Amino acid sequence: MSGQPRARDAVFSVPPYVGGDSNLTGINRVIKLSSNEGAFGTPPEAVAAMRAAADLAFRYPDGGSSALRRAIGATFDLDSTKIVCGNGSDDLIGLLIQSYGGPGTELVMSAHGFLIYEIAAKLAGMVVRKAAEINLTADVDAMLAQVTPATRLVFLANPNNPTGSLVPTAEVFRLRAGLPQDVLLVLDAAYAEYVERSDYDPGMALVDAGDNTVMTRTFSKIFGLGGARLGWAYAPESVIDVLNRTRMPFNVSGPTAAAGIAALAVPGWVERCRIHNSRARATLTARLQDAGLIVHPSETNFVLVDFGAAARAVAADEYLRARGIIVRNVAAYGLPHCLRVTIGTDDECGTVVEALTEFAHIDD
Ligand SMILES: *Cc1c(COP(=O)(O)O)cnc(C)c1O
Repeated sequence: MSGQPRARDAVFSVPPYVGGDSNLTGINRVIKLSSNEGAFGTPPEAVAAMRAAADLAFRYPDGGSSALRRAIGATFDLDSTKIVCGNGSDDLIGLLIQSYGGPGTELVMSAHGFLIYEIAAKLAGMVVRKAAEINLTADVDAMLAQVTPATRLVFLANPNNPTGSLVPTAEVFRLRAGLPQDVLLVLDAAYAEYVERSDYDPGMALVDAGDNTVMTRTFSKIFGLGGARLGWAYAPESVIDVLNRTRMPFNVSGPTAAAGIAALAVPGWVERCRIHNSRARATLTARLQDAGLIVHPSETNFVLVDFGAAARAVAADEYLRARGIIVRNVAAYGLPHCLRVTIGTDDECGTVVEALTEFAHIDD
């Protein structure tokens, strides 16, 4: 016999996901603003909880993540039986797509929506339909126009990564109302805790209003636990049942569950992070605009900076890297002329502003 095992063709339809870089050769102190990790690191209480949980690492964790779900439910005032936890929200997004999608079906997302949806959908053998945006913001009418009889899932990151833009509650309701009842709407609210606008609901209202909308959330951003891998979904009973059948039995580790519970309990953590973020984002935006750069409005812990041309964005990226600063190239999102910059500490933001101001002057 010759040959070798060959995976399904769909597996080869996607390039491997490339995350934000962490290292630069020859530079010791790197400022990493490429993955939207929280500006304040891991909450110390979560570190302590993981250390304590390490002693029990030989035990299998609670497969149902009961204590963690109760803590999430209490924090967000939600019924914990309508929550499923995952190994990051990516885990749950993948499970929803595997479960409700498949060959011959379609997924609708916006033109610059979060790439994981497209990757997971293609792996599942689905066709991905992207709707044009207006001012880098998802457009409900354009999304509805992409719906066909084959549509099974519609994904909306709200606010969206990498654009930072938000779709107001009333528009999200209009999206739901315009979709067929049997299409699952997934609202990915990874950045919900950063939003200060009053015309925003992360998705609870629509989940509660029917049986065809899911909200996903993460501990990777404001809670500073990206490396621990923890996300959750709030969903109607039928979707919870599907997720509990399709997820792996121990998809959240013991130390990670402990970290999540501890992070939720830190007094004032979310408020402190949000207040810093809003202030630092406003300052960063204003100073980059002073340097002549276009900065898109953002409701998240990052901003999208527009350099006008792909070559100039690449040059800016190289200029920053040479100074130990890593931001995110977003060419894969159809935005080759932009770079995405995470809001870090005031020091980190200041260093980025200085470097980009120099760059803007040299480049003029
Ligand atoms: C960061 C991010 C996530 C979170 O992914 P995890 O798997 O929970 O780390 C989900 N959706 C969007 C839009 C994101 O930017």
